[in-house]
Amino acid sequence: SAAAATDLEKLQVLGHGNGGTVYKVRQKRSGVAYALKVVHGDSDPTVRRQIFREMEILRRTDSPYIVHCHGILDESCGDIAILMEYMDAGTLDSLLKTNGTLSETSLSNIARQVLNGLTYLHTHKIIHRDIKPSNLLVNHNMEVKISDFGVSKIMYRTLDPCNSYVGTCAYMSPERFDPDSHGGNYNGYAGDIWSLGLTMLELYMGHFPLMPPGQRPDWATLMCAICFGEPPSLPEGVSEEFRSFIECCLQKDSTKRWTASQLLSHPFVCSDAKSQK
Ligand code: ADP
Ligand code: MG
Repeated sequence: SAAAATDLEKLQVLGHGNGGTVYKVRQKRSGVAYALKVVHGDSDPTVRRQIFREMEILRRTDSPYIVHCHGILDESCGDIAILMEYMDAGTLDSLLKTNGTLSETSLSNIARQVLNGLTYLHTHKIIHRDIKPSNLLVNHNMEVKISDFGVSKIMYRTLDPCNSYVGTCAYMSPERFDPDSHGGNYNGYAGDIWSLGLTMLELYMGHFPLMPPGQRPDWATLMCAICFGEPPSLPEGVSEEFRSFIECCLQKDSTKRWTASQLLSHPFVCSDAKSQK
């Protein structure tokens, strides 16, 4: 199988995360490049739990919009590693930093792919819970894939509350801070849509939309902005479709927020709706 550790050569570090390291590796036999996410045997239980959760989700998913897992390496030394397809253009976060802000056309293309991925996940009862630019991978064909399932949740029961403070709090939706305020209609899936809305705004504006440019987010300011402020919106000069799309994602009331499959037919992402005009 692809997952023979002895046949892999480490080329470089692609990213460091909470307890794990992602390497670019090459399979010596075939010359094919992969990404290898490694968690060491002596790392703390939270980190190990996260990699097991990620393994479980990657094993269950099979979609062109979700990063593909080629195998799991379970080393005798206790190290665990996930062998994934290598996404050669990095993340949307690195793309923003190297190429600058993205146009509406590229964002429409990105949004459509992420929404296809989210529709797939939500249909399979998986909530990602950490959608943000650095967890969306890109390749040279501008294919965008969702990755990093360390804090995701599989909903075994429909009404499972999903209110734990996991993920990056900056991208968390208002109802995740106060699930009770939503009258039992708390819908964990809608949190991923909020995070997508913030992600799209950030890629257009070039900075995290809930804080002024250059200011480092602190938890209290952020929580106030998310829960008590107006949802952030686009500056002047964008198309009506884009403005409306962001509004549909950033409804503070999670029951009014559009679902991933509804957003797939929004005019901003739906080329049929666009070309009919
Ligand atoms: P963490 O939980 O540590 O955030 P991630 O899975 O998000 O782990 O990986 C950390 C970083 O490694 C990513 O932000 C990205 O830069 C890089 N990376 C992860 N997976 C891949 C991949 N399949 N191809 C290319 N780069 C990747
Ligand atoms: Mg990550």
